[in-house]
Amino acid sequence: MDQDTIAAIGTGLCESGIGIVRVSGGEAVEIVDRIFFDKRGRSVLSGKQTHTIHHGWIRTGEGEILDEVLVMLMRGPRTFTGEDTVEINCHGGVLVLKKVLERVLEAGARLAEPGEFTKRAFLNGKMDLARAEAVMDVIASESDYALRSSLDQMNGSLSGRVKEIRADILRETARIEAALDDPEHMSLDGYGDILQGKIEDILKDLNGLIATADEGRLIREGILTVILGRPNAGKSSLMNLLAGQERAIVTQVPGTTRDVLEEKIRLRDISLRVMDTAGIRTAGDEVEKIGVEKAKKCASEADLILYVVDSSLPLGKEDEEIWSLISGKKGIILFNKSDLPQALSPCELSRRMESFCPGEHFPLIVTSAREKKGLEELSETVEAMFFSGGLSRGREPVITNLRHKEALCQARDSMLLVKESVGRNMPEDFYSIDLMDACACLGRITGEEAGEDLIREIFSRFCMGK
Ligand code: GDP
Repeated sequence: MDQDTIAAIGTGLCESGIGIVRVSGGEAVEIVDRIFFDKRGRSVLSGKQTHTIHHGWIRTGEGEILDEVLVMLMRGPRTFTGEDTVEINCHGGVLVLKKVLERVLEAGARLAEPGEFTKRAFLNGKMDLARAEAVMDVIASESDYALRSSLDQMNGSLSGRVKEIRADILRETARIEAALDDPEHMSLDGYGDILQGKIEDILKDLNGLIATADEGRLIREGILTVILGRPNAGKSSLMNLLAGQERAIVTQVPGTTRDVLEEKIRLRDISLRVMDTAGIRTAGDEVEKIGVEKAKKCASEADLILYVVDSSLPLGKEDEEIWSLISGKKGIILFNKSDLPQALSPCELSRRMESFCPGEHFPLIVTSAREKKGLEELSETVEAMFFSGGLSRGREPVITNLRHKEALCQARDSMLLVKESVGRNMPEDFYSIDLMDACACLGRITGEEAGEDLIREIFSRFCMGK
């Protein structure tokens, strides 16, 4: 492994109260000692106990003060990377941080690559691959659900599960190998039946994890939500109300005739990616057609459709067009403008929709964008619809990472091959190959069987200083 001492700014590059320059490696303490001095101008760190904090000044080569800082001295292996680590708590100005980092580099450290601190933690056995990846997910979390599931994984919930399943498979492989090596003392008579039972258990475990991946995508990316409704029903008003103070990043998603606007909205613990299908409101034959096409495309890809109805007006022809888009999807009716005299009743609307989409049921929430009414109920309904039991359910980790899902699916495929071989009474060495493949797939999740390329690829996606 690379034994250089590395350094990077560990906090965001924006003005803030404090900022941290992180230094890790065999020479971390000596390097910082060359540039960090107490009020009498003496070096401070060498010989000091681990996990202690020291006050002083970072100085230039000419002895000028760069910043007044607090330095955290942590000697390995009881550190994040497992190596000696020094963290310099500077003032949080961008220029100050850059200058202190430059000074650390002048004193002998090398600039860290993205993710290199975490990569070292992994290579030094401080955490397995899935837990290291979860560190990144914790940083990127945009909703409470995402944060909770990433923290769970960082603490080893997924790794623990995967290791258990892998150990079950390894146990069977070892038994077969041992019997094949020493047929006089170990018999595999009747083992096929036992193995069938074990395979079923393992498949059940794998399928259980894979099944959480859909939920995982919603947690990671947010629920793709499309707001549909007739012109003036109150779509924009509701969208603004939803966005409230949490109004976040507005991104342009190219792809359709006119760009569709996507907005990230946080609804309590959940994040929604709301697509604004502005086109559907434009009148005029050709344009309207484009709008409807666009809305149809968005609706077909959506996880959730919010159908906004102006309850002060009777239903119109366009509503049926919208019902055909909701049909077969998860949808919620927002019965809007409830503050006005009503031309429609919730019962009538539900009845008409249910006869249009037989067998389907869409929850209806009475809202008033003007009076800010109905949002709480909407949050509860979305949560119940998508995360029925909440994330703490059964302590089963939720698969939020596509790489993990693919590895689990491959492990399942290998186990299905084993099942087939056993069912067809094939010789034992046949299934031991597929059992080993399944093990290898699971080992790629936790890192026991991850090649150098995969490891490099994973850590290169990390941010600087992590
Ligand atoms: P959109 O075309 O569906 O996006 O509808 P808008 O959000 O632009 O709203 C159309 C009009 O209805 C605006 O004048 C809004 O102020 C009004 N509006 C929206 N929601 C409500 C509501 O709940 N009550 C009342 N009284 N007016 C509303």
